[in-house]
Parts: sequence; structure tokens; C-alpha cells
Amino acid sequence: MTDVAVIGLDIGGTHCRGALVTATGRVLEWRRFNTDSAAGLTVFLHRLVHLCEELREAAASRNMAVRGIGCGTAGLVESTGRIRTSPNLPMLVGFDLQAYLGQHFRLPVRVVNDADASAWGEACYGSGRSLDSFLTVTLGTGVGGGLVLQRRLWRGSSGGAGEIGHLAVEARGRPCHCGSHGCLEQYASGTGILLNYREISGSQQEGPADSVAIARLARGGDATAIAAFRCAGRYLGQALAGVVNLLSLDGVVFAGGVSDCLDLLRPAMVQELEERAFEVNFRSLQLLAASCGEEAGVLGSAGLLGSSQSGACISAARS
Ligand SMILES: [Zn+2]
Repeated sequence: MTDVAVIGLDIGGTHCRGALVTATGRVLEWRRFNTDSAAGLTVFLHRLVHLCEELREAAASRNMAVRGIGCGTAGLVESTGRIRTSPNLPMLVGFDLQAYLGQHFRLPVRVVNDADASAWGEACYGSGRSLDSFLTVTLGTGVGGGLVLQRRLWRGSSGGAGEIGHLAVEARGRPCHCGSHGCLEQYASGTGILLNYREISGSQQEGPADSVAIARLARGGDATAIAAFRCAGRYLGQALAGVVNLLSLDGVVFAGGVSDCLDLLRPAMVQELEERAFEVNFRSLQLLAASCGEEAGVLGSAGLLGSSQSGACISAARS
């Protein structure tokens, strides 16, 4: 064996994807299966192990050795790799996936939250490559966040850092599944934008079915649709102003399906940032779209298997 690769996994509520990734972030092989949470933990683990074995065999056929397994998974992941909560993957709650894969494959394994993995993917191979410290905001069905500080993924003492989606932007706002009220996710996610539209229009039944349809209406000049996005942008700007005043970041990287609508969110978001953030913190702040696409999760989780996080980034920057 003359070369090494890492298996990167991205476990979501709908799909589980795995890739064989080189040290420079090149994806050599892809595999995927439907997560199917209802089938239970045993079935899921069997499929996951099978996927990893296929990727290891693919590496062997290329005369490569697998150095480790990195994994990003939906849910709150403790710093030990145990999954604490995960609404979309209930069979994994309380399960130590990191220890299980480590014992099964006799390889180094790291399991982190999927938004953290995506942030690290952008840090190493995407829009975050030139940023020293930044937050990735994933705008999709929910709002996820991953924090990179001075070129290191910051997960905090418990592993639950970076959750910008659950910053309160309305003290007595909409109830959130996390147990709090008025979280950013309830206003700026795809679901939140739909709620904004229905609240502004005064109709709970009629109208567009999702944020994609609302974006189409907004681009056609529909005032209610424009206002629904303006509402989301305003709350995003409000939350981000607090974050940049706390951390003085170099940038914010927007990922996820709703980030395709950044043009609709940006005016109100920037206005709030200008009004609320300290001028010194806002002046140098870059607002960027993510560039790794769907590969961010597997690239980031694979990148975490470097000898050190910053070491992995340096090798990526030189590729
Ligand atoms: Zn919440």
C-alpha cells in the first residue's frame, strides 16, 4: 500500500452517504443508502458497516489503505461521539457510534454533528478556505450552524456549540421543537419562511406550499412573499449581529437549500447587521455562499481525521 485515504460519512434523516476521500480532499468513490429510521438500529448499523466495507474494498483495489472514518450525523453529538438527541435519527439517540465503528473496523473514528462536518468541509476545501474564523449557517428545513475559530472546529465543552438556529430572536415567539420559544429556526428556515408567509397573508391554508414556491413568487414581485423573506433576513441579521459582536468573525458562510435565496434575504439581513453590529466587527465581515455543495459533509468529516485539524487544512490549501 503506497497511499492513504479516509472514509467520510454523512448521515441524514433521509439518506446516508459515504465517500472515499484522499488527503487532498478528492472524492474517489461514492456510496449511499436510504436511512430508513423506522427499520431500527440493527438494520441501520448493518447497512452502515456494509457501506464502509465496500469503500474499504474500493480503497484496496486502488492500492490504498484507509486511515480512519469521519462521520457527520444529524443531531446533537457529545464531544465523546455519543449521540445525545436527534429528532430525525431516533434509533441513534444514546448510541455511541464512534466507539462502535472504532471497535468494528479497528480504525480511528470521529463522529460530529453534520453542520459541524459541513463547516469543516468549507474550511478545508470551500468558501471558508481564506477565512481564519467564521460561522457556517445551514438554511434548510431547520437552521444549523458550525463554528470555525482560528482554523479549528469549535464544538465547545459539551459538543453542542454553534447552534445559531436556536438563538432566541423573539422573546415570546413561536414555539420551537428544542423546547424554547422564538428561535431563529422558526423564522429563517424553509419552514419558518412558510410560517412567515402564512402569518403575513393571514391565511393558514391557501397559498404556496414551501419556501421554494415563495421564492418564485418573491422574484415575480409578490409583496407578501418578499415580506416573508424580509422577515427571515431581518431575524438572521439580528442573530448574526450578536454573534459577530461576541466573536468578531471574518465571515459567515451560508449553506443549505434556502441559501439559494440569499439574494432575497440579504437586504434586510445587511441592514440589521449595519444597525446592530459594532462597525469594527461589521466592516471586515464577509457574507459568502458555500461552495462545496453536497460534498461538504463527507469532505469535512473525512478532513477531521487529519493528524490535527489545522494540519488537515494546511494540506488542503496546498492541493
Ligand atoms: Zn429552538
